[in-house]
Amino acid sequence: MLIDPFGRAITYLRISVTDRCNLSCAYCLPESGVKWMPDDLVLTTDEIVRVAQAAARLGIFKIRLTGGEPLVRPDLVAIVRRIKEIPGVTDLSLTTNGMLLEKLSKKLFDAGLDRVNISLDTLDPAKFKKMTRFGDFQKVWNGILAAEAAGLKPIKLNAVVVGGLNEDEIPAMASLSIEHAWHVRFIELMPVANEQGWGNGLPTVSERYISVQKMHAMLEPLKMQSLVIENEVGPERTFKIPGSLGTVGFISPLGEHFCNKCNRLRLTADGWLRSCLLVDKEISLRNALKNGINLESFISQAVSEKPEGHKLKSHNCPEARHMSQIGG
Ligand code: SAM
Repeated sequence: MLIDPFGRAITYLRISVTDRCNLSCAYCLPESGVKWMPDDLVLTTDEIVRVAQAAARLGIFKIRLTGGEPLVRPDLVAIVRRIKEIPGVTDLSLTTNGMLLEKLSKKLFDAGLDRVNISLDTLDPAKFKKMTRFGDFQKVWNGILAAEAAGLKPIKLNAVVVGGLNEDEIPAMASLSIEHAWHVRFIELMPVANEQGWGNGLPTVSERYISVQKMHAMLEPLKMQSLVIENEVGPERTFKIPGSLGTVGFISPLGEHFCNKCNRLRLTADGWLRSCLLVDKEISLRNALKNGINLESFISQAVSEKPEGHKLKSHNCPEARHMSQIGG
């Protein structure tokens, strides 16, 4: 088992399989776009599987595929199948914008994917287009329904709350959990290389951040009850609207510091291990991967150097990569 210097058990690896994305969410990517990584820098299926195997040998049992947009990678189904075959991997999930999910849900489920998180920041198709720059709300909605029908469970919806944009929809989005057995999660906007103007009449820096406390206040009329989830690790707090089929969660890196519960490592699409989403320190696996060197010592090193916490409150924000280049 991997234990970091602050006593946290590291059991979860997020693998970014590509930095490319078919959307350009305002808070994630600059309006001018970013240069994609050259193909020869992006890890191959075999390389990704080798990292996952090494991680599993060290006790990591939960793996999430992310990006960029993981569904734009043509070999994603094969990656899912091969990771699911690794002994010890008991929880294999995916984070996606859902644009291609209608077509791929069944294939992913059949390949062994357990569950899926879908990013959905608004229920208003015009606002959806504005926030994502190219998105099509209906496609994503169809993707959510297809994922549920395919058997990917539980369905989690991720909404990044942005002041002046979608904060007025918090009650409507939380209410999706009344009739659907979905977990709706509200995420505080994180300052990751996105402090510039977003263009297209989108909110300015001073309007954007909405604290989790403000989100709770807006949800007071729904009388949510706090749930204690047994063995729950990770940064989330979970609630339930009485009588609802689903649940509501909050991820609040700024409003409520959660680093003491962090259980994860991240692998970037170009083969760097990052032990904190919000600190720009990384260890390269590239040389080891290219030369067939054992990966376990590099993974252990990343864990041993995992920071105690991020420093966002002292304005120490990551700038080396955009969120889409880390995987969220
Ligand atoms: N393309 C996939 C998607 O849209 O879910 C996976 C990659 S995306 C970078 C992963 C998650 O990061 C999404 O839920 C997205 O909303 C979230 N995210 C991106 N930028 C963020 C930011 N600045 N603050 C908080 N969450 C962010």
